[in-house]
Amino acid sequence: MKEIFITHLHADHYLGLPGLLRTMSLQGREEELVVWGGPGSAGHLRDTIELGGDRLAFPVAIREIPVGEAVRYDDFEVRTFPVEHIPSSIGLALVENDRLGRFDVELVRELGVPEGPAYGRLHRGEDVTLDGGEVVRASDVVGPARRGRKVVYTGDTRPCDASVEASRGADLLIHEATFSHEEAARARETRHSTAREAAEVAHAAQPARLFLTHFSARHSEQAHRLAREAESVFPATAAEDGQTVEVHLKDDPVGEGRA
Ligand SMILES: [Zn+2]
Ligand SMILES: [Zn+2]
Repeated sequence: MKEIFITHLHADHYLGLPGLLRTMSLQGREEELVVWGGPGSAGHLRDTIELGGDRLAFPVAIREIPVGEAVRYDDFEVRTFPVEHIPSSIGLALVENDRLGRFDVELVRELGVPEGPAYGRLHRGEDVTLDGGEVVRASDVVGPARRGRKVVYTGDTRPCDASVEASRGADLLIHEATFSHEEAARARETRHSTAREAAEVAHAAQPARLFLTHFSARHSEQAHRLAREAESVFPATAAEDGQTVEVHLKDDPVGEGRA
């Protein structure tokens, strides 16, 4: 793990940090860790991390990210969007770069392109001239660019337009569902969402799948109930604590299908 993003400063979302960092330190970590938080969170995050006073064996950089901005990495970016919970709460969207189109190796071989750097040039979209003078066109052997994956995590929030916008075309939307529909008034008061409201966000944005989270884990019964409530609005819903899912690469061309 190299970087951690904190959506907002409520205890259940960041108080695990001191213990986690201390464990990493005991395990001999030396590499720097970056902790990101919303506007105005740096001082508080610093105090929390230094809680207890003992020194960590590795450096921790704390950075604030303005709402609406993104952090770029080589293959993906983490975008933030404003959610409606407490001031400076952020939602997070992990958005992978689009991938190169599918490369037709058999056809390229048939056309007599020698294996090696020419393959890479064709795949990146450059035409290649063979020794005999014939030109192999990249557009003949490479399909359209393919969409990267997108995973959206709202953190705690009321259902809001920014979550819908951020979740369009997502492979997975992880939306909080703290309450059931009967507790809708309480959800409004505490700036949380019901399972149905989470499903309505998904219905508007049409991600491939919706995962509910932040429900009371006391009874798995509760998770099932929330999932059933959401399914009536958005069928591709799951709610199970501690679940690991794989988000598979897809071949959707960029600019088509779900947008
Ligand atoms: Zn909260
Ligand atoms: Zn919370």
